[in-house]
Amino acid sequence: GFITIEGGEGAGKTTVLELLDERLTELGYDVLLTREPGGISISEQIREIILHPDHTEMEKRTEALLYAAARRQHLVQKVLPALQEGKIVLCDRFIDSSLAYQGYAREIGIDEVWMINQFAIESCMPSLTLYFDIEPEKGLKRIALNNEREKNRLDLEKLAFHKKVYKGYQLLLERFPDRMKKINAEEEMEKVTTNALHSILAHLKK
Ligand code: C5P
Ligand code: MG
Repeated sequence: GFITIEGGEGAGKTTVLELLDERLTELGYDVLLTREPGGISISEQIREIILHPDHTEMEKRTEALLYAAARRQHLVQKVLPALQEGKIVLCDRFIDSSLAYQGYAREIGIDEVWMINQFAIESCMPSLTLYFDIEPEKGLKRIALNNEREKNRLDLEKLAFHKKVYKGYQLLLERFPDRMKKINAEEEMEKVTTNALHSILAHLKK
């Protein structure tokens, strides 16, 4: 199963994914935990280019294309081979991030970003996407408190941008009701992890 985790800044995706990896492994599942943009050398290097705090001149379609390029390489080199081996792939962000951030928030258009991403992924979509729902104000507050987090270009964006990302994700939930499941990410990490785990197990048993 190919499972992705989505959500805005400070939703707790990375923290919960590590806990989910532990829980699923204890239950005997063979898990690959990975992230986007990144996960392998080429895509981590593209991530550096996109998120570098100095690259403020980056044009939005350039950004969208770089995300799509990083996504393709990561999918082909890491995700698909793991799925072939029967692993459960848990991926921190995937296509929905591009649809919400570049498509909706940066106003390229969800359909436009969907098209370049279909070229990149050739219809290899996740079978389950957990969307971690948190008010942007609360997510940003969490980030401000977390000193370990690496700084990136998105830190320059104002609350208004993150509110648009939030709205973008709500539109995606309406658009993909079968694939996307909303998880309340405002609760404590333990609770969020348990809820996410239950959704994953229910999905795997289908
Ligand atoms: O998931 P993580 O927080 O590590 O993502 C790194 C940064 O990339 C975040 O600030 C996120 O908002 C941004 N991002 C983006 N567009 C995407 C994916 C991630 O702006 N499609
Ligand atoms: Mg994260």
